[in-house]
Amino acid sequence: MLKIGITGGIGSGKTTVCQIFKTLQIPIFFADDEAKNIVHHNQHVQEQIIALLGEEAFIDGIYNKPFVASKVFNDKYLLQQLNAIIHPAVFQATVDFFNQHKKEAYVLYEAAIMLESGSYRMLDKIIVVTAPENIRIQRVMQRDGINEDMIKARIANQMPEAEKLKYADFVINNDGKQSLIEQVLATHHAILKLT
Ligand code: ATP
Repeated sequence: MLKIGITGGIGSGKTTVCQIFKTLQIPIFFADDEAKNIVHHNQHVQEQIIALLGEEAFIDGIYNKPFVASKVFNDKYLLQQLNAIIHPAVFQATVDFFNQHKKEAYVLYEAAIMLESGSYRMLDKIIVVTAPENIRIQRVMQRDGINEDMIKARIANQMPEAEKLKYADFVINNDGKQSLIEQVLATHHAILKLT
């Protein structure tokens, strides 16, 4: 079973591309969703977050994301410590997912910051989804209803697109001109040839 990473900057279209892979019955692990799930439901993780950031991190048991984000946004050390709490739990869930799907030809692991975090090292091949920055900004503005400056700030926090592409074994160009379905099918067949 090959472990294939799929990544790309904010609004590049990772989720959209994964939806197409899903129609091919490829199992997909959504690392960012899993991290959210763990923060919301894993009591041990919640206790550690409270010890790090204080009781305000949860209100009536519900994750207080604005508070946590405000604490860690400009404090790299705190962010590192928060990640050190969440990442091992996500990693364990990832290992469980890989073990559950050992008999598949390949599985996908989707994460926005796998290159920045280093988690790409556990994967056999990497797919990078890419789109021009102005298109990404337009799509995220429409999807999330947030302004251009907020999106640009998030983009500035991520690895530049050109740098990401250096890690790519496969590139899916989501510029709205080239067919996504055809590119996914071509990538799917290329991966199957490796198995
Ligand atoms: P994020 O990192 O922010 O989660 P993402 O990389 O998962 O983003 P998507 O959510 O797949 O990106 O795409 C961003 C938005 O753009 C979505 O609303 C999606 O429906 C839309 N979108 C993606 N690809 C296309 C396309 N080829 N044509 C039109 N809209 C698209």
